[in-house]
Amino acid sequence: MLIKNALVILKDGIEKADVLVKNGRIVQIGEGLTGEEILDLEGNYLAPGFVDIHNHGGYGYDYMDNSVEAFENILRFHSDNGITSAVASTVTAPKATIEKTLSVAREMVKKRGNHAKLLGVHLEGPYLSFQNKGAHASEYLRTPAEDDYRYILENSDIIRQVTISPELEGSVEFTKKLVEKGIVVSLGHDNAILPEFLPVVKAGASNLTHIFCAMSMVVMRDNKRYVGLREYGLIDDNLTAEVIADNHHITPELLKMIYRCKGGDRMCLISDCLRAGGMKADGALYSLGAKGDPDSQQFKVADGVAVLTDGKTYAGSIQPISQMLRNVVFDGGVPLSEAIKTVSSTPARIIKADKDIGSIEVGKCADFCVLNKDLFVEKTIIEGRIIKK
Ligand SMILES: [Zn+2]
Repeated sequence: MLIKNALVILKDGIEKADVLVKNGRIVQIGEGLTGEEILDLEGNYLAPGFVDIHNHGGYGYDYMDNSVEAFENILRFHSDNGITSAVASTVTAPKATIEKTLSVAREMVKKRGNHAKLLGVHLEGPYLSFQNKGAHASEYLRTPAEDDYRYILENSDIIRQVTISPELEGSVEFTKKLVEKGIVVSLGHDNAILPEFLPVVKAGASNLTHIFCAMSMVVMRDNKRYVGLREYGLIDDNLTAEVIADNHHITPELLKMIYRCKGGDRMCLISDCLRAGGMKADGALYSLGAKGDPDSQQFKVADGVAVLTDGKTYAGSIQPISQMLRNVVFDGGVPLSEAIKTVSSTPARIIKADKDIGSIEVGKCADFCVLNKDLFVEKTIIEGRIIKK
């Protein structure tokens, strides 16, 4: 395939160029290239395919429905929105349910079809703080003891990232063990202060799960003011930060502050999208986590965001990161080439997949998202195949 007349969004800027693809990989980038199977972009943007490293569902399905059908539908929701690679997030649930998700995911990573590629799993819980559990079910929350988390280490082939709350007893040891296995440790859903989370950061935690959402903040304790993860996360350059840039969880002003501190290389947009992603806002009730589980939390869609049945607690987002990219550029004022990093090279680097994906460079997978001038997704291309026309 030869992609002609494109405004190619490269890591160091936007250039008018052609891109030659062979066997699913990028082989040449330049002007006046020749080749067969020409795809004329007529001046539209050719962006790297988007990478969503934190999301739960879409098109009515949740990964924790634990079926191939659910995974395929969610991954199709993603590819319809310019995402070429996704990591499946679980919620706090019984170990047996999480293990089932891991085994379906292991099957799906090998599959190629008319949907985004699955890169692995992100475990959001069960090692989260009770005080900042957000929409996670409190009865399944745990503290990290080796007997309890051994199955996570044993599934390190499929687990890319684990979110933990750093003040829980055993977090330092757990973090060291996860990092040893090549699993990324992300901090969040916590109630920690600096002396509690700093040892976990030193032990190798490198990412922050949806900064500002269900995260500790500055508090007074014993007549002393301690920073929380929100403030510390903004100033430590060794930490990357996930951002739910849906203009609800993170408003444009907060977004501007986070961007000013972290920049495009350390800020990563995530959809945190629930099963209601891509569905109509018609008042229907959806379940968080596994369908039919009597303990699972219920939520509905309200004004561009998902809320629990109490009508006020955010349950997660329903916007794909393609919409968030527009929010960040048009409402947050982030330059396009920097904003693109937050949905491609930065998430790819966070989960250590940047050797193959995340930017338009010779040798990398031919994963692209074609955007028009208003930044709407026109086409999704995965390993040289047009998935969405
Ligand atoms: Zn989540």
